[in-house]
This record gives sequence, C-alpha cells and structure tokens, in this order.
Amino acid sequence: MSIYDSFGVRTLINAKGPSTRLSGGFLDPEVLAAMSDAAQYCVDMAELQAAASREIAQVTGAEAGLVTAGAAAGLLLGTAACIAGLDPAKMGRLPDTRGMKNEVIMVRSQRNFYDHAIRGAGAQIVEVGLPDRFAGAGVRDAETWEIDAAITERTAAVVYVAGGAAQPPLQEVAGVARAKNVPVLVDAAAQLPPASNLRRFLAEGADLVAFSGGKAIGGPQASGILAGKRDLIMSAALQQLDLDVYWEQWAPPASLIDKQRLPGLPQHGIGRPCKVGKETIIGLLVALRKFVAEPEEKRSQRLGNFIARLHAALEGVAHAQLHVTGGLVPKLELHLSPEAPLKALELCLQLEQGNPSVHADASRVRSGVIVFHPWCLKEADPERIAARVKQLLLSSDR
Ligand SMILES: *Cc1c(COP(=O)(O)O)cnc(C)c1O
Repeated sequence: MSIYDSFGVRTLINAKGPSTRLSGGFLDPEVLAAMSDAAQYCVDMAELQAAASREIAQVTGAEAGLVTAGAAAGLLLGTAACIAGLDPAKMGRLPDTRGMKNEVIMVRSQRNFYDHAIRGAGAQIVEVGLPDRFAGAGVRDAETWEIDAAITERTAAVVYVAGGAAQPPLQEVAGVARAKNVPVLVDAAAQLPPASNLRRFLAEGADLVAFSGGKAIGGPQASGILAGKRDLIMSAALQQLDLDVYWEQWAPPASLIDKQRLPGLPQHGIGRPCKVGKETIIGLLVALRKFVAEPEEKRSQRLGNFIARLHAALEGVAHAQLHVTGGLVPKLELHLSPEAPLKALELCLQLEQGNPSVHADASRVRSGVIVFHPWCLKEADPERIAARVKQLLLSSDR
C-alpha cells in the first residue's frame, strides 16, 4: 500500500532507469528527511541558491552553480544567459531576440528533442556537419573547422551534447569557441556516473554544464544543476529567481549576484516558470553529497547486486539468452531467440500491461534485445521481474 492507492494510481517496477515518463527514481531516506526538514522553514531563495552555488562549485570545480528544475531547464537558462549576459533589458525581452546575438551552433548529429529548451530561450539553432558515419555511407561527422567556420558575430553559444559517441572532441570545440569568445554550454544530463564527470566537461573547456539531478545523482525528480562561469551563472540566476522587490530592498548575496554590476533590477525572467522550491534545492544538495561520497566501485557493486539477482532468478528462461554487461552500471540484456513465441516489443508491452507492471528498456527491441537497468529497482523487484518474464515466455509456448 502506498499513498498512490488513495488516488487510484498504480505503482510500477522500473527496470528502465530514472526516466521522467516513469517518474524518475526514488529518494534515499536521508534525502527525504532533509527535504521534509527544509519544508518546515522559510528562507531567502537567493541566499539558498548562493549556498547551492558554493556546494556545486566545490564538487564541479566551477566558479559558480545554480540548482535548476532539471537539466532541460539548465539548457534554457544557460542559453538565456549566453544571449542576454548581464543586461536586464535583454533579459526582459526574451524570447524575442531581435537585434541580439541569438544563434546557437550545434553539431547536427547531437540534435535531440531537448533542443526545445534551447529554442525556448529565443535561440535559433545553426546545424553543423553531416553525420555520414550514421548513414552507413562513410566514416566522418562534424569537424572542428566546420564549427569554427560557423561562428559569426550573431553566435551566442555553442551547445555540445556530451556522450560516448559525441564528435568532435569537446576540447577541440571549446578551443575554437574560446578563441572567438563564444561560450560553450554542455548538456551532460545523463553523463553520471562516474562522479569525476562532474568536473570533466568544465576541465575540458566548457563554460557551462547542465546535469540532471533526478538521474544518477538521486535527487528530486525535477531537479538539476547548472555550473560554470560566474557571470553566466549570475545571469541564469537573475532570469530564474523571483525578483518582485524594490531596488532598495533587494540585497542578493554578492557571491551569486553582484548587484553593483547591474544598471537596474531585472523583471521576472524567461526562467521564472522553471522555479525550484527550497525542498528541491536541499534535496538535490544532500543527494549530491551522497553521490560524490559513494566510491565508484561500491556504487557498481550495489547496482550489480540487483543485476546478479535478476540474472540468477531468470536462469532457465525459455527462448532467450542472458548477458550481463559490466562497467560502472551493470545491466542485464535478454536476447530473444528467433523462434521465441513473442517478439521483443510484444514482450515489453506484455510486461508493461501486466500486474505488476514492469518497464524495461525497449530501445533495442528491433534487434530482439530487452535491457534491464538497476537504478530504480526496489528490494524484491529482481525476483518479481524474473517471474513475469519466465511466465510470459512459457505461456506463449504454443
Ligand atoms: C535526461 C536528459 C535531459 C533532460 O534532463 P531533465 O533533468 O529531465 O530535465 C536533457 N538532455 C539529455 C541528453 C538527457 O539525457
């Protein structure tokens, strides 16, 4: 029984990982307790974000940081910061960017559905490169000189989506951008673990980096981090915070917002709808401390335990082979035999529609593979998943 019962909502088994669609993961009791404590008091939100900035700076090596309402909110705020800088008049006009630097350069093969957050700030995306390697026609993708050539006086930023397959290397992209004074904003939403990646992209030359708080960090579902250069974070903070005060009354902490440098008080900005509550900020910060404190091997072991148990419980399953993939986050792959009575997508659907409803990673069903991830599994889940999978593959035996 859970609170969801009283609203007629089913809970599900999440072997897909912390997807937004499946409500993210769940919170460690220590994080929950901190949020519940935070919710009992009122604080000054700018002061709280300044404390968050110190904490984020310490673990990322950035000059400053901000807690955002997710990595996508970080992309919107980061883009808005690159476009408006510290000019309150420009901030007030977004997303109307007429007359401003408003082009954001992206490698075509890095484009994705989260781009909406970048366009939402008023930016126009300028695509660079032809990802020949993905067409099966060739080996190349965008090259650094092409990004260099695309930079003009209208360029507000280069947005780089980090990932194992991302090309060209970030250091090279940051090199050409820096030479022309153009900031680089990295989407590193899902690039954790390892925790060392909290520092990596900034060390490689990024000016801003956005992480999800609700994925590996284990913070509240609608939380995230934006970290980077002090001026850009100040701009992002100004465009997110509620600023309904008189200029004389306004005393923001100088470490986050240096009032001296502003000609006037910005109005509510483009990021005001991405507001973050105090509980969320505290939850994210406590989760971040725990995430950084857990040794990488211990995290792998903890997650690998779920996968080992799922593997053991699935032993003897009909019409399928099992493969455990190693690495920082072990996963279990179920490869259906060609003669299996169900196609992989059908098996996924049946798992989802069953009771309990089980959600796995369906991104490889076209190759007959279903992947189970350990991040959001609860104690009894491995055996419950295995029982459902075995039952479905057997009962479909005709
Ligand atoms: C998950 C993800 C996002 C969005 O992160 P939220 O924290 O849910 O806003 C953005 N970009 C990439 C590449 C992601 O994987």
